[in-house]
Amino acid sequence: MSVQVAVPAPGPLPPPGLGAAAPAAGCGAERPPVSGCPGLPAAGLGLPPGAAKVPQASAMKRSDPHHPQHRHRDGGDGGAGREALVSPDGTVTEAPRTVKKIQFADQKQEFNKRPTKIGRRSLSRSISQSSTDSYSSAASYTDSSDDETSPRDKQQKNSKGSSDFCVKNIKQAEFGRREIEIAEQEMPALMALRKRAQGEKPLAGAKIVGCTHITAQTAVLMETLGALGAQCRWAACNIYSTLNEVAAALAESGFPVFAWKGESEDDFWWCIDRCVNVEGWQPNMILDDGGDLTHWIYKKYPNMFKKIKGIVEESVTGVHRLYQLSKAGKLCVPAMNVNDSVTKQKFDNLYCCRESILDGLKRTTDMMFGGKQVVVCGYGEVGKGCCAALKAMGSIVYVTEIDPICALQACMDGFRLVKLNEVIRQVDIVITCTGNKNVVTREHLDRMKNSCIVCNMGHSNTEIDVASLRTPELTWERVRSQVDHVIWPDGKRIVLLAEGRLLNLSCSTVPTFVLSITATTQALALIELYNAPEGRYKQDVYLLPKKMDEYVASLHLPTFDAHLTELTDEQAKYLGLNKNGPFKPNYYRCWF
Ligand code: NAD
Repeated sequence: MSVQVAVPAPGPLPPPGLGAAAPAAGCGAERPPVSGCPGLPAAGLGLPPGAAKVPQASAMKRSDPHHPQHRHRDGGDGGAGREALVSPDGTVTEAPRTVKKIQFADQKQEFNKRPTKIGRRSLSRSISQSSTDSYSSAASYTDSSDDETSPRDKQQKNSKGSSDFCVKNIKQAEFGRREIEIAEQEMPALMALRKRAQGEKPLAGAKIVGCTHITAQTAVLMETLGALGAQCRWAACNIYSTLNEVAAALAESGFPVFAWKGESEDDFWWCIDRCVNVEGWQPNMILDDGGDLTHWIYKKYPNMFKKIKGIVEESVTGVHRLYQLSKAGKLCVPAMNVNDSVTKQKFDNLYCCRESILDGLKRTTDMMFGGKQVVVCGYGEVGKGCCAALKAMGSIVYVTEIDPICALQACMDGFRLVKLNEVIRQVDIVITCTGNKNVVTREHLDRMKNSCIVCNMGHSNTEIDVASLRTPELTWERVRSQVDHVIWPDGKRIVLLAEGRLLNLSCSTVPTFVLSITATTQALALIELYNAPEGRYKQDVYLLPKKMDEYVASLHLPTFDAHLTELTDEQAKYLGLNKNGPFKPNYYRCWF
């Protein structure tokens, strides 16, 4: 398979609205403002007016983002041939279009389907894996399990009399509002964008239909999009992950939200349909997490794409689907792959997991980590985060890898690289982080020692062959929520967490600050696609321009009272960089 790194001549950045504005007084026009810059929240994208160079509107196009090798250097030069010059009056001088071809080995990616729940009517396509990964990262204060009435059968109105929503219980709105307010404290960049929006509305006229986890952090994103001028309608991308109070708070504020925790598969598609199939309202932007919403519109309302300006997709799975559509020539609007933004991948995948792996294990098992033997399968972003956290707690960590580069990284980071078979009898914990399937097989499970803990941090519940444990000779004992003991005839038991689904999203909290980074990336991607002049983006999948990635990071630096060093003129010239960034080529993904 050949992967093209194609760079069409870009339009000017930042997008009209936020980006084109002059920076706020006091912050200086030279760079994205950071610490000690009181005007930060009011600053635009922090780009100088008439900046000499802008990053590419399109960074890399890759036909298979999930091939393990996609993470390695693509050999692109990221040099001047890949950039356009913009004069101070904003005129774009076309840069030469360069195309690089890199040979990757072919690899098939398989979508995993889960056994479906019984729905009210049959549907043509099974719900995506991501939509069924259990997720309950925040405590639910008001959920009443004895209220069995389906929200679809309830007549509810918010205090303004609107019934254009479907949530578990609108009366929970006040609790949800508190959750949202707590999340706002840890989402500085979105709050900065909101302040910025007081003056201008870069999303005015945008009609965004969204399908993501409905949590307090998503609510902050939605309310930010609203403040930026957008109208939003929202459904959940996961049947378990909705925080009912938060959904109620959003509905109370006038957001048409169709989601509740514990939807059936039929409910899931019904909610998505209620978001898009509305009289007098048609979306012109999509924000998706997993690709189900995009798929639904393709199947049911293909004509809607005539008005849709772009798709922003967050997840590995959804991005893969987009690349497949693109490869088949069926992608009819531009799409932004947010998953592969450095500020998403490095923070969500690495730091989020580094912070939450211990939390998930501790809450479910009360275990002590010091001296325990752990094997982590996969040393990508997620694996690196898990290994770092466990090592810091004094665990003895083994790593398995298929990729010699990541394997070498593991070795140089001080981990023992092994095959799973070599350590399976002795380890206390097995953690999968590969995004692959059947990494832990029944044979491995049979050989584990008594009380071994088995869990998964990868996207779907396919990494551990949980199905193979559902046989008559094994006894399952639910000992806590999300904790099962699987008992062998000889009395040996293993501790299976979250039935092999994402441990952290099922059993612990994930840090809001990290989600803030991802949510900001999503917001900027929406602004960029919505405001892009005709022709800047084709019907293809794009990465967020590097400069926006840098901007997202810069918006979060003040939290740490961080002081960013500025290039001197001499240094900038020496490195061949613009003083205001981008500081790395588009292909640079900060590997370490
Ligand atoms: P990655 O591609 O960087 O890392 C996966 C690693 O697993 C690769 O290095 C690959 O070579 C290795 N691998 C593949 N098959 C293997 C096998 N059979 N044995 C050993 N190693 C194998 O991906 P990532 O960013 O680390 O994400 C991994 C998974 O975690 C994905 O499914 C992703 O969607 C998910 N994810 C989870 C969270 C979370 O909060 N839990 C956050 C982000 C991503």
